[in-house]
Amino acid sequence: MKGEFEIMPADSGIEPLLEVRNLHMQFPIRRGAFRRTVGFVKAVNDVSFHIRQGETLSLVGESGCGKTTTGRCIARVYEPTSGQILYKAEEQDRIDLAELNNRDLRPFRREIRMIFQDPFSSLNPRLSILQIVELAATEDLFANPLHPYTEALLSAVPKPDPRLRNKGVRIRLEGEVADPSNPPSGCYFQPRCPYAEDRCRHEEPAVREIEKDRWVACHFAEELDLRGFEAIGQAMKR
Ligand code: SF4
Repeated sequence: MKGEFEIMPADSGIEPLLEVRNLHMQFPIRRGAFRRTVGFVKAVNDVSFHIRQGETLSLVGESGCGKTTTGRCIARVYEPTSGQILYKAEEQDRIDLAELNNRDLRPFRREIRMIFQDPFSSLNPRLSILQIVELAATEDLFANPLHPYTEALLSAVPKPDPRLRNKGVRIRLEGEVADPSNPPSGCYFQPRCPYAEDRCRHEEPAVREIEKDRWVACHFAEELDLRGFEAIGQAMKR
């Protein structure tokens, strides 16, 4: 998972309840009789976001994409490799949870908890990708996705109406899932993206605010004509 996002403008004057800055979580890959470290899996790679009171942030992706690891870092089930987790407790200055030891964390464990809810667990695990690629208000994201991965995710959402289930408009991504310990050059998604062009193989797309409160990590976000959830549902009815 990778990305930097801001839901409300930084100059809104409202201090974030939770601010995650440049969070990294790497797990060692150990091999051989002596369990030597031969590499690292970057489960969370430079993720930043903040949440103010009254806001809800949803991290959407299938099992294995890094959502849970991000949550576990924030709840300090894991000790992050690096980064800050700034939490504003009531009537206190902000505290960096990433720096606290177990004893000092105890009062905050009552306030920050994980509730597991994974409606996408049935998605094809071949869709796995470890990046945050799009941030938008829920309605905008469903109606008008701007990243190819979001489009593929929406097309894979199970339809409750059994008459619509096998109509064959699900977008299947070809190729192997990228190895997070040896990621591809350029865009992480390029080996399986149906819209990839040469530029995608050489240049990593930056996370850009291409409309107000709309953040996307794709070189061609303004040009692609992607299908949203409604469009997919209508196509299935035909
Ligand atoms: S940058 Fe290229 S490969 Fe990456 S999502 Fe966009 S079109 Fe696909």
